[in-house]
Amino acid sequence: MTRAAASLCVLSLATLARADDAAAPPDAGAPAAWAAQREPGGGAPQAIGRYGGGCLDGAARLPEKGRGFFVTRPERGRVFGHPAMIALIRELGARVLAAHLPALPIGDVSQPRGGPAPTGHASHQTGLDVDVWYRAPGAGGRAAALVDLATNRLLGPIDGAIARMLELVARDPRVDRLFVHPAIKRALCGAIRGDRAWLGKVRPWWGHHDHFHVRLPCPPDSPRCEPQAPLAPGDGCGELAWWFKKADDERAAEKKRYQGRVGAAAALPGPCGRLLAEGAPGAESPPAP
Ligand SMILES: [Zn+2]
Repeated sequence: MTRAAASLCVLSLATLARADDAAAPPDAGAPAAWAAQREPGGGAPQAIGRYGGGCLDGAARLPEKGRGFFVTRPERGRVFGHPAMIALIRELGARVLAAHLPALPIGDVSQPRGGPAPTGHASHQTGLDVDVWYRAPGAGGRAAALVDLATNRLLGPIDGAIARMLELVARDPRVDRLFVHPAIKRALCGAIRGDRAWLGKVRPWWGHHDHFHVRLPCPPDSPRCEPQAPLAPGDGCGELAWWFKKADDERAAEKKRYQGRVGAAAALPGPCGRLLAEGAPGAESPPAP
């Protein structure tokens, strides 16, 4: 290869890298465009970008039911995840059955190509997040709330089966973290004796009064996946006071910022723009939540 040809190669590689690192055009971040996607991307499985600003290629689909789990609202079509997430849900299902716990009611995973959703979430964009409902006997087709969001108080004591389910999931070495309502975390902090290390993975967050949220770390096959800051060591029980301070302007402002991101357009990395452009949107609009 001549020196000129070699430098051309280097140049085109550099151009390629720049094109990939560039942001996707702003209209690529519109939730409706992602919600209209009906099929996963055909590339190798890859989570791309941030949990709250990214997409998913080569998604796997979770079946409507399996051993120890069932999808609560299959009509939403948010049953797509990175294959590591789909494998995790299946295996957790088998493990709750083995532990004589009730089957896991699975809420949203991600849309077929991930991306921002028009309703319900700020994250769930890269196929690495899943919601699992709490469900009381007799709650019909609804998730069962454990917390009164108006008062931030538990509606009753945390059922032992729920605590065992949270522990089983948090102890799974593949799981990066869980999100629960702060009142649930506080109850666990007060109740769990012995080895409390798993409590550190259980993070307080807004909402999450009727479901918990399981997050995987960036998988090894996803170099463009942006990891979150690692969790601090310990059980995390010492940082709950912030959530229960009486009137608190900083907390109110944070909450508003978070709520503004739910269902909002997202800034996405370049590969997400291409993944969206290659997709074939379905004819009908996505069902209302
Ligand atoms: Zn969630």
